[in-house]
Amino acid sequence: MFREITKKEEVISVGKKILVTQSSMPKCEEYMEEIKDLWESHWLTNMGEKHQRLQKELLSYLGVNNVELFTNGHMALELSLQALDFKSGGEVITTPFTFASTTQAIVRNGLIPVFCDINPIDFTIDVNKIEELITEKTVALMPVHVYGNVCNVEEIERISQKYNLRVIYDAAHVFGVKYKNRGIGSFGDVSCFSFHATKVFNTIEGGCACFSDDELGRRLYELKNFGIKNQEEIELVGANAKMNEFCAAMGLCNLRHIDEEIAKRAKVVERYRKHLSGIDGIKLSPIQRNVKSNFAYFPVIFDEKIFGVTRDEVMSHLAKYDVEARKYFYPLTSSFQCYNGVYDSNETPIALYVSEHVLTLPLYADLDLNDVDKICSIILNLKNKNSEVKL
Ligand SMILES: *Cc1c(COP(=O)(O)O)cnc(C)c1O
Repeated sequence: MFREITKKEEVISVGKKILVTQSSMPKCEEYMEEIKDLWESHWLTNMGEKHQRLQKELLSYLGVNNVELFTNGHMALELSLQALDFKSGGEVITTPFTFASTTQAIVRNGLIPVFCDINPIDFTIDVNKIEELITEKTVALMPVHVYGNVCNVEEIERISQKYNLRVIYDAAHVFGVKYKNRGIGSFGDVSCFSFHATKVFNTIEGGCACFSDDELGRRLYELKNFGIKNQEEIELVGANAKMNEFCAAMGLCNLRHIDEEIAKRAKVVERYRKHLSGIDGIKLSPIQRNVKSNFAYFPVIFDEKIFGVTRDEVMSHLAKYDVEARKYFYPLTSSFQCYNGVYDSNETPIALYVSEHVLTLPLYADLDLNDVDKICSIILNLKNKNSEVKL
């Protein structure tokens, strides 16, 4: 519990490499058992039995009206935008503090991302800055529930109704999250989750779109299957984004253990908070009210003016001890090379600041709490280079 670290660097030896995340997996036997009958059915993809079962189980777990499964979270986002059938050149208000996928999904649909700044508390879209970005070309809002933090869904709903805009949530980080006891995927026109191997819940690769409008669901179903309506009618210019049976089987297994996994993550986060809360120069994102969290990520903001060393220095110092932290998200999507400098990241100064100061620390269900102690010691010793640190 209370361990004294005297000779700093020497005594802290993590021993093995700690990656920023580790995929949750069921016991090998459990997965084998789940996939066994595929050798009888020979039905490997195209909305098979496991696909259907997972879809049904997710409906109730996520507390949403409809679920459409996809081969990954990105295709859920990209095809959701396509399904909503916006006029080409329409503007979508989003944030640049996100994974590449959000912005790429907009651009790949022939739409224009308009970057709104984030708020410095939970790093989601700053709802006070949305309205000034709305023009007659605006068609939708695409906010991101970053790190498992919930956007201000009420204010976003008010704005979308006032200006008659669609809302597509990038919900890749919020699997299992509830806001005021309501599934987070039930907000907006569509919410897209990612089931990538690195996410809280995984199907190896996978994702889903949640929505209420049945007609939208019909379009999503067709779009993930080449736009095929029936054997002779191809209605939409679709892609191929179906989840296969092996991935769905992984999802069925992982879903059985998800509450336990999230509870273990909570313990890890609690331990990080115990060590890192109230440290000068370190800012943590506060616990959100009315939110049942999934403890997806543990972002830490380092203010080098107070902390004494930069985020990059913390990261490379951790790396010396075989601890991998990530600059997540850096750079901002608005400064991606592929956008040829058409966006100015100075227009979203808070997003820019956070991207340059944030580090996400290792976090996964099976991360040993002793390792969390060690990681925190390494960080805190860096701050107090010449003094002893008591944990
Ligand atoms: C992971 C992620 C995605 C994309 O999901 P994939 O399943 O990897 O395609 C989209 N947005 C955000 C914010 C993500 O973190």
